[in-house]
Amino acid sequence: MAKITELFGTMSFNDKVMKERLPQEVYKSLKNTMDTGAPLQIEVANIVATAMLEWAMENGATHYTHWFQPMTGITAEKHDSFIEPSAGGGAITAFSGKSLIKGESDASSFPSGGLRATFEARGYTAWDPTSYAFIKDNSLCIPTAFCSYGGEVLDKKTPLLRSMQVLSEQSLRILRLFGKDEVRRVKPTVGPEQEYFLIDRDLYKRRRDLVLCGRTLFGAKQPKGQELDDHYYGSIKKRVSEFMKELDEELWKLGIYAKTKHNEVAPSQHELAPIFTTTNIACDHNQLTMEVMKKVAEKHNLACLLHEKPFAGVNGSGKHNNWSLSTDTGVNLFEPGSSPEDNAQFLLFLVAVIKAVDEYADLMRVAVSSAGNDHRLGANEAPPAIVSIFLGDELTAILESIENDTKYDKQQLTLFETGATVLPKFPKDTTDRNRTSPFAFTGNKFEFRMLGSNASISGVNFILNTAVAEVICQFADILEKSTNFNADLHELIKKTIKEHKRVIFNGNGYSKEWEEEAHRRGLPNLRTATQAIPCFRSEKNVKLFTKHRIFTEQEINSRCDILFEDYAKVVNIEAMTMLDMVNKDILPAVSEYGKELAQTIIAKKSIADIPTDYESESLARLSKLTTCIYEGAKALDTVVLESKKYTNVQEKAEFFNNKVIPAMCELRQVADEAEMIVPGNKWPFPVYCDLLFGL
Ligand code: ADP
Ligand code: MG
Repeated sequence: MAKITELFGTMSFNDKVMKERLPQEVYKSLKNTMDTGAPLQIEVANIVATAMLEWAMENGATHYTHWFQPMTGITAEKHDSFIEPSAGGGAITAFSGKSLIKGESDASSFPSGGLRATFEARGYTAWDPTSYAFIKDNSLCIPTAFCSYGGEVLDKKTPLLRSMQVLSEQSLRILRLFGKDEVRRVKPTVGPEQEYFLIDRDLYKRRRDLVLCGRTLFGAKQPKGQELDDHYYGSIKKRVSEFMKELDEELWKLGIYAKTKHNEVAPSQHELAPIFTTTNIACDHNQLTMEVMKKVAEKHNLACLLHEKPFAGVNGSGKHNNWSLSTDTGVNLFEPGSSPEDNAQFLLFLVAVIKAVDEYADLMRVAVSSAGNDHRLGANEAPPAIVSIFLGDELTAILESIENDTKYDKQQLTLFETGATVLPKFPKDTTDRNRTSPFAFTGNKFEFRMLGSNASISGVNFILNTAVAEVICQFADILEKSTNFNADLHELIKKTIKEHKRVIFNGNGYSKEWEEEAHRRGLPNLRTATQAIPCFRSEKNVKLFTKHRIFTEQEINSRCDILFEDYAKVVNIEAMTMLDMVNKDILPAVSEYGKELAQTIIAKKSIADIPTDYESESLARLSKLTTCIYEGAKALDTVVLESKKYTNVQEKAEFFNNKVIPAMCELRQVADEAEMIVPGNKWPFPVYCDLLFGL
């Protein structure tokens, strides 16, 4: 194996390559666009495109594609070769600045939530020069945003880029007030930790539920689960370790800083964490990471499951979104400073996040809403559906002392004066202990833990960025007019703590008491995706997004509809898969085994009067269960049919949540009971024990 440093970024048109291959002025101009968001000139794009073409062909590329992130949640690509016809029937290779900057593609088959009529099917992709192009499967991939002919946003990238811009602009207003004139841009940084399951591919292929839905729809509880905690951080098995090694290498080639890998809590569950980077790059890289995980797994005859809850009874998978703000001068705005002034600035940004998360908790909940994540949130393995913030005892004590004008340290010596008092250093490990909190301050960043493993990180981040930008905008409006900065700053921080401390909770987020306490505090508890999604289009939230030009109201409505549609489609596929497995596999198998039992009973009785208790009782139970399964399948079939009558997407999704899912649960329960009676070699597909402990 090549050295990591030699391997790293070999397939990425990154800063190093640009510096080497672009004329100095072109490099500067592109860099300026990347750093400040300034528009890019076509002459510059032409030179960049030529350099990209040369570099890509040297590295084996024959095609290029605009790589984008439509509302399907996965990435999309359409490949064009570099070939252009030349005189005399020959061919030349070409790639123009125009092809780099803009692409046209048929948008008609991507979800648009009614935004785009089929007769106007054109969609456009536009280069995002702030994210590096890369080579994948011999294609030069150009990260792009995707919109309709009329300019409506059709992807997950555009709102993210817009929110980053808005957040930067608003943060700069605050930094100016603190005299940080040298800062030109503030960037949200993200490090997403990715959880996944890895199972044997031959077993996987024999489970239609895994293949079609990504999760098991049946499966009796295996004798051993995660109760011994012997998998978490355990030594990594050979097959898994070989997979991880190749995964790291493939990610490094793409310029992705894959850093940490370990076994997770559930059997067969693992995690990969990259080093954090700018949000839109982190988003691109996370999408790529998920794709590469699946591909590398296939090479090792493994299946990588990214579903939020592939198996009942053991933990599901999440994606922890570590988020912070950093200046182009290299300062992390959530790193408590060492001077009184820096501390005041830190506290202001801190309370801005507290207020933003309190006021837009419903939106944060929307951002993690999906049919898959409903199985995970609040299931005592992931945060509850209630959004709260963990700050740790030290920081909470300081906020309390500011709020009440009381002394904050243990000896009751120091009164906190904004702009005059130095914060104590909080030891990092005491800020990172509470794993039950959905949104934890972890020393110099926030960790949002509600996101499901399968989701794009775009949603949570554009929502968080926009909500924080809005609060910072309000703060700047007040402070820019101030004639007594320190006093007004102190008052603002104090007032914000008073009004929003209800969202701070340092206790056990999994407990029943917290649910009751949160209810008393008036915090929303949106248990299911279908309850959460409508919040997206509430008046307050429409105002937020339209004010900061992230979305038009129409775009918000379309996004809601896409979420509802997606929910209904996912549950519908699951229900149909269940019926298919019951009718083609489970019922024939139980019936066949029942016949065997009956034949044994007859045979035994015909020889002599030998006891047949085991066979008779098993047969009786199995026959009862067979009827229950048959009835359960009929009931499920009926509600699935009934769902067809709904044309309104929200009503349809609600029907799936209220009627179809309960019918699925009932069917599963009786089928799982039958699984426990039927001998392993007569059950039609691999069971939990094989799947979870098979490697
Ligand atoms: P955990 O205890 O949750 O595993 P780690 O210390 O491993 O936490 O960090 C988790 C993630 O947080 C990593 O991806 C890391 O790069 C990221 N991270 C660290 N600092 C920042 C930051 N300033 N902004 C965003 N992400 C960060
Ligand atoms: Mg974490």
